[in-house]
Order: sequence, then C-alpha cells, then structure tokens
Amino acid sequence: MASLSTKVVVIGGGISGLSAARVLQDAGVDVVVLEAQDRVGGRTHTIQDASHGSVDLGGAYFGSGQNRVFRLAKELGLEFYNVNEKEKTVLSLQGSWSSYSGSVPPLGNPIALLDLNNVMRTLDKMALQVPIDSPWKAKQALQWDSMSVKEFVHSIAWTRETVELIQVYVRDIFAAEMHEVSLLCFLWTIHSGHGITRLTTITDGAQEKKMFGGSQQMSEGMARLLGDAVHLNSAVVNVTETDTGVVVSDSNNTNYECDFVVSAVPLALLNRISFKPPIPGLKLQLIQRIPMGSVIKANIYYETAFWKDLGFCGSVISDNGPVGYCVDDTKPDGSHPSLMTFILADKSRDMASLTPEQRKQALCQHFTTLFKSEKFLEPIGYIEKNWMNDEFSGGCYVSNFPPGVLTKYGRELRKPAGRTHFAGTETASEWMGYMEGAIQAGERAAREVLYRLGLIEETEIWRSEPDCDDYPMVNSWIENSLPSVTTFFTTLGFVAASAAVGLLVYQHF
Ligand SMILES: Cc1cc2nc3c(=O)[nH]c(=O)nc-3n(C[C@H](O)[C@H](O)[C@H](O)COP(=O)(O)OP(=O)(O)OC[C@H]3O[C@@H](n4cnc5c(N)ncnc54)[C@H](O)[C@@H]3O)c2cc1C
Repeated sequence: MASLSTKVVVIGGGISGLSAARVLQDAGVDVVVLEAQDRVGGRTHTIQDASHGSVDLGGAYFGSGQNRVFRLAKELGLEFYNVNEKEKTVLSLQGSWSSYSGSVPPLGNPIALLDLNNVMRTLDKMALQVPIDSPWKAKQALQWDSMSVKEFVHSIAWTRETVELIQVYVRDIFAAEMHEVSLLCFLWTIHSGHGITRLTTITDGAQEKKMFGGSQQMSEGMARLLGDAVHLNSAVVNVTETDTGVVVSDSNNTNYECDFVVSAVPLALLNRISFKPPIPGLKLQLIQRIPMGSVIKANIYYETAFWKDLGFCGSVISDNGPVGYCVDDTKPDGSHPSLMTFILADKSRDMASLTPEQRKQALCQHFTTLFKSEKFLEPIGYIEKNWMNDEFSGGCYVSNFPPGVLTKYGRELRKPAGRTHFAGTETASEWMGYMEGAIQAGERAAREVLYRLGLIEETEIWRSEPDCDDYPMVNSWIENSLPSVTTFFTTLGFVAASAAVGLLVYQHF
C-alpha cells in the first residue's frame, strides 16, 4: 500500500472540490484532490465530437446573479452566449396548447394569469423570510417544512392551470414531483436563487447563458491550474482519523496522510465512504433523507433548425409526454441544429427501462404534437445521459429535502465531522443546487480549513461575491406590476363602487 502525505485532501473533483482546492493552493496549503472518475467535472459533463460539437450532458445554464460563475469563466478565458428565445415558446398544459413570446406563460384566461402571478409573488415574499444560510431558522420554518409544495399550492391557487404550472416549475428546478419536496425547501431554493421567475426563465433568468465548448471546461481549467494535485480514478473508500491527523484511502490502495479533509461529493453519496470514527448520527440520518432528483437529459439533432421557420424558438414548457422542458441547443453560428430536453421526475422513472432508441422516438413523437410538425420524426442524431445510472452522482441535478428534513437535520448540512469539512452545491447558501452554489460551497469549506490552520480569521470564512457589472440582475415589469386575483377584484369593486356613488351624486344634484 502506497503512502503519501499532504496538508489537505479534497474528495471529489467537481466544481466544488476543485474550487476548494484552488483556495487552499492559493493560500500556500499543500492539497490533493481525489476524484473517482477518469474525468473532472462531476455533474457537469461535456462530450465533444465532430457530429455534435460540444454537448453538455449535465449542468450547463447560468445567468445574471451567478457572479462566481462569471468570475471563474473570465479567469479561465471561457466565453458564453445567450440561449435562443427570439421566436415563440410552446406551452402545453392540461391538454391545451398555446405559444407565446416573452417570459410569462399565457394561461388560458386572465383569471388564471392573475392567479399564477399571485402564487408566484406569494412564494417570492415567503421565500424572503427564509434565511438562505439557515432555512430552519425561518419564523415559520416548522409549519412550512411540515407540508409539501403540492399541499401549499393547492391551498392557495384558484385555478388548475396555476397548480399545474407550479408543478412543472418544481420538476424543472428539482427533477422531482411537487409532493416530494417540502415547501420550506422550495422557499429556500427560491430565495437562494433570487426569485421564482429568475429560476424558471431564460432571458434575465438562470437559463440565459451557455459556455462555448461546454461547462465542464470550468473544472478542466481549474484542474489544469492545480496541476499534479488532481488524481483521477481515485475513489475514496475510507477516511480514518488518527491521534495526529487523518488517513484517506482510495481505491488504488493509496493512503494519504493529511491534517484536514474537504468532502465535496454529493452528500447523498457519503454512505459509500467509511468514516472512522463514524460521522455523527444526525448527519448519517440526514444523508439517508435527501434523495437526488431523477433526470434524463437528451439532445436531438436535425438537419436544420427548421422550428425557427415555423415561428418557434425551441423552448417548451409541458406537463404531458416525455418532454418536460426543452430549449434550442443549436450553436450561435447555426451549427449542430438541435433541441435539448429534460425528461423529468416521474416521467424519467417511467421511461428508465426503455432503450435510448425508444426514448428518442418518444421524444420526437412528442415534438410533433408540441410543434405541430411531422418533420420532428426525422432526427439525424441523438445523445442522452440518464443521471439515475451515474454511480458517482446517484441522480441529479441535486438533492431535495422532503417535508420534515430541513428543520430536523438542516443544521447538519455544513457541520464538520472531526477534521472533515463539507462542500458540494447542496451545502451552499446562494444558488443551492447550481454550479454557482458549488463554487460558493467549495470556497467556503476551504476557508473553514484555512481558519482551522490558523491562516485566516473566523470572520473571513463566509465571503460575499461582488456583483458582476457586465451582467446585472433585472426584474421584469410583469414581476413587479401584475396584481393578484384578490387585489384585481378588490380594485375592480372599488372602482365600480366609486363610479356608482359618483353617478348617484351627479343625478342628485
Ligand atoms: C442534467 C443536469 C442538468 C443540470 N443543469 C444545471 C444548469 O443548467 N445550471 C446549473 O447551474 N446547474 C445545473 N445542474 C447542477 C450542477 O451541475 C451541479 O450543481 C454542480 O455541478 C455540482 O457540483 P459539485 O462539485 O457540488 O458536485 P459534483 O459535480 O457531483 O462533484 C462531485 C465529484 O465527486 C466525485 N466523487 C463521488 N464520490 C467520490 C468518491 N468516493 N471519491 C472520490 N470522488 C468521488 C464525483 O465523481 C464528482 O466528480 C445540472 C445537473 C445535471 C446533472
């Protein structure tokens, strides 16, 4: 058995682990990153080939408010572009079909639209009461954590369309169904991602931008800067604390003696590593209770981006069929015309036993209904990744928190276990579940270790990120201005009553 020594071992070469390692290395601390797979990047996975160009099979999209991603992209010289949203988006909900421009789905009738706006604004307002670094401390945490998003939405929505659209949004955000996720978790995610509109939209939203060449380049770039410190094909199997430090053992029978460990693997996978002494009971229970979402991400290629000629940008919001969410993935220069689609939550579980060919056919068939054209039955290429089969993620995009978990176990998320500190997007306070959150979490965990090494003050562990001036956050007019159904009818009633009084006074005199 080989033995090496270093100051800190980082487990996991995803965005979070590599971000942690860079903070440590920049502070002059000797660090080794142990990555189980033969590549860095984890839940960001870009493949490159001549037929498809670069294809992001995992995390890809980002937008304003994700300042750390902009910072990292700039540092690594990565360039990005806006996802096409020029033409119309298709909304297929509750058996009805419509297409629209802009970011607000036209829900059948004005009442449904006001209702949707009210539910979304109510969620936004409630979310502001949830502290992003400790959602369990919200005044109403217990109440909000005792119910699922489904229960809450059914209690305040007036229309079926609104309930269904929020269901679609929950699937898009968590790759889980509305009954699986606690309301408190949803509110936390909304606050941590600057509002439900931002989380669910393209223009000015979290799906606005993609990187030329793919998002995995962020990890590859960081790994290049870290040099020999990154060890691939090194799955960590044991973490053993001794009187003087920690011994981390990997699948190659190599022991790494170190002072501290940063674990940057998805928390839900921690059970695969044997900790001695065992990680504390409450944390062990936490990691049994935060399931990863279920998603199959697919890209379907065509000769041309003919959907634009039909007046569609390629975006779809749908509650029926395999296509849950879809956007144009054609490169800005027009090459590799394609649509990217997520098969989400229950749909992905239902379709997991099909072959890729069967899934491709089901998606193309669904496109013919969504875009009203048989041309979608003639794809020239197909690539997919079923993240439920990914051994080192256990599902994607992120863990979700079912009712009762955040209030009872949330405090364990970032709590160190002996000499091991915890990173990974699930431990982020800002943009939890996103690439941005992964960077924040990694850098924070690294500074926890720097503090324990006596290299920084405790007050320096948490650092906010300056706004990226080039890409400021803007709120849409509709977000700020539309009234709720109640406000609308109250105002209407008030106007009608005032008019009636005015008429009476006029007639009297
Ligand atoms: C299909 C999909 C779509 C997504 N879409 C978006 C999006 O559009 N925008 C966005 O911001 N985010 C998106 N995400 C989420 C985003 O990709 C993640 O939040 C982010 O990549 C998580 O980074 P991480 O470093 O925290 O974890 P990971 O990327 O999971 O990194 C953990 C690493 O640990 C390694 N590992 C696991 N076990 C061990 C072990 N025992 N020993 C050593 N190494 C181990 C893994 O191989 C992995 O490399 C998406 C994810 C998926 C899968």
